[in-house]
Amino acid sequence: MKGKLIVVSGPSGVGKGTIVKTLVKRRADVVESVSCTTRQPRAGEKHGREYFFLSKEEFLDRIEKNDFLEYDEHFGNYYGTPISFVRETLKEKSVILEIDVVGALNAKKRIPESVLVMIAPPSVTELEKRLRGRASESETEIQNRLSRLEYELSQKDKYDFVIVNDILENAIARLEEIIDKK
Ligand code: ADP
Ligand code: 5GP
Repeated sequence: MKGKLIVVSGPSGVGKGTIVKTLVKRRADVVESVSCTTRQPRAGEKHGREYFFLSKEEFLDRIEKNDFLEYDEHFGNYYGTPISFVRETLKEKSVILEIDVVGALNAKKRIPESVLVMIAPPSVTELEKRLRGRASESETEIQNRLSRLEYELSQKDKYDFVIVNDILENAIARLEEIIDKK
């Protein structure tokens, strides 16, 4: 294994996607794993880029075939990390997974060398502002996501590192440091 497996979690809207996408654009030696999901694509999302969008039947079939490093159900949809991509890519590069707390702990069980990184918001008010600012979910979906916040942050002691995403560039730099740490 040449690269590191970095597992990034944190409440919805905290800026995980923004941090990870900016970092992988800058670094040819770091790749983001594309998860599978049964949720509907949001406007602008593309199959194979943000997610592989599968039907529930396809997803259940892949669970049967042991194709996921981990999987979980959120907001009534399945999400999972394809294991073959992760194992192959780690031979050459570091891989970032952007997954929830339960998924992260399950991934660490399967691959104990993985490094768990929690992204935390500077405050709840700021998180709510970012979620609403993104304008991609309905009010009910926003409330669903906010209701998980306390639980997610309460798990931070199980993580190797916590990064507060206050100033975006600082958060990106901190994640790079963690990846490059020997
Ligand atoms: P997540 O992937 O964690 O759900 P996103 O990356 O979609 O979150 O970010 C949610 C919103 O917050 C986006 O509109 C993004 O531009 C904004 N955002 C991300 N990081 C910061 C930051 N440090 N300061 C202000 N806004 C931010
Ligand atoms: P969203 O629908 O906002 O893209 O993602 C909803 C939740 O699913 C987020 O908490 C996200 O981290 C999580 N998620 C995305 N991909 C995976 C995955 O492959 N496995 C698990 N367990 N969770 C995931």
